Amino acid sequence: MTATATRVLVLNSGSSSVKYQLIDMNDGTRLAVGLVERIGEQTSRLAHTPLAAGGDKRETEGAIADHDAALKAVAAELAADGLGLDSPQLAAIGHRVVHGGLKFTEPTVIDDAVLKEIERLVPVAPLHNPANITGIRTAQAMRPDLPQVAVFDTAFHATMPEYAARYAIDVETADAHRIRRYGFHGTSHAYVSRKTAALLGKDPSEVNVIVLHLGNGASASAVAGGRCVDTSMGLTPLEGLVMGTRSGDIDPAVTFHLKRVAGMSTDEIDALLNKKSGLIGLCGDNDMREIRRRIDEGDERARLAFDIYIHRLKKYIGAYSAVLGRVDAVAFTAGVGENAAPVREAAVAGLEEMGMAVDASLNAVRSDEPRLISPEYARVAVAVVPTDEELEIAQQTYALVNA
Ligand code: AMP
Repeated sequence: MTATATRVLVLNSGSSSVKYQLIDMNDGTRLAVGLVERIGEQTSRLAHTPLAAGGDKRETEGAIADHDAALKAVAAELAADGLGLDSPQLAAIGHRVVHGGLKFTEPTVIDDAVLKEIERLVPVAPLHNPANITGIRTAQAMRPDLPQVAVFDTAFHATMPEYAARYAIDVETADAHRIRRYGFHGTSHAYVSRKTAALLGKDPSEVNVIVLHLGNGASASAVAGGRCVDTSMGLTPLEGLVMGTRSGDIDPAVTFHLKRVAGMSTDEIDALLNKKSGLIGLCGDNDMREIRRRIDEGDERARLAFDIYIHRLKKYIGAYSAVLGRVDAVAFTAGVGENAAPVREAAVAGLEEMGMAVDASLNAVRSDEPRLISPEYARVAVAVVPTDEELEIAQQTYALVNA
């Protein structure tokens, strides 16, 4: 790495998509952002915005066969603006990797042994780790000389005490199959809990925060003095809150019942709980904007879906208040948490005895900045703190390659 190398390319490779951001670490400026979707289909789409060049979003459609072709197309877009992968200013590539298991609790420079270990975790993250691995291999082939860093979604939760991380099942069976609670969205929970402390003018070590990451996927975490002590997702991202398409917490006996009585296969049950449940299963929509619109029109199914979503959220706020003992702040983040004022209002309604309240006019403000929405008298700060997983990945990556 040369002294002038201050840029980090962040890659988030999904099964049929690649999201990317090129960030200048001098000040966190986005130089380019983009997304390749529907990889492997005839109608793949690449949307690239050259922010540094002040250019408009460029969109191209047409078959992109695989991740290799996708990354080459991204590299060509970046090169067109003088930001190519061959630039000496590129310090590293930071990869979001969903599952780091018990081994990876810190950002890690990727070598063959690390890649093998990420592969070994595929059985516990079959939907996510294979795509992450493909993204890493493709990027390595394009810039074999450049440091590539894995930043794990599970890492922030590695501080959970054993009594929070273990399921109450037979220990030998659990250990033989690495069954335990790992947690996800860790990059976001880390970033948001730190930012919330800053909003309160405190060091992260001084505050206890409940972070509610409410996007299409959703998770809650209890963060005590900067360390995660519990989180709602478990072995996989299926556990916990009601999500866009996932059920969250459910009696595991439902799965035996579906097998024995409904005759469903394991794959069918997997698809039901991960893709056809949550808000979409309850009311046919997983976008909170659409659900609110339907509620305003008097739609009963949308109302019930919303109420179930809020009820689960409240239970986690209560549970994590008990886990933390003292709560200094509740922070809402991600697509729903940052934008849906009615969700924030409903989740905190009735929690005055716990020191939590939302001020209606503060809650109605729209902004990209971290902000308080609780009234001054409230004992617990309620905040909206926009997440920035890409910046967090870039910062962790850059810190590691400069260490
Ligand atoms: P994320 O996974 O963080 O990108 O969040 C995506 C979700 O955020 C969408 O599925 C919507 O439910 C929700 N969302 C995005 N914008 C809004 C908005 N303006 N109001 C309410 N919900 C929103």
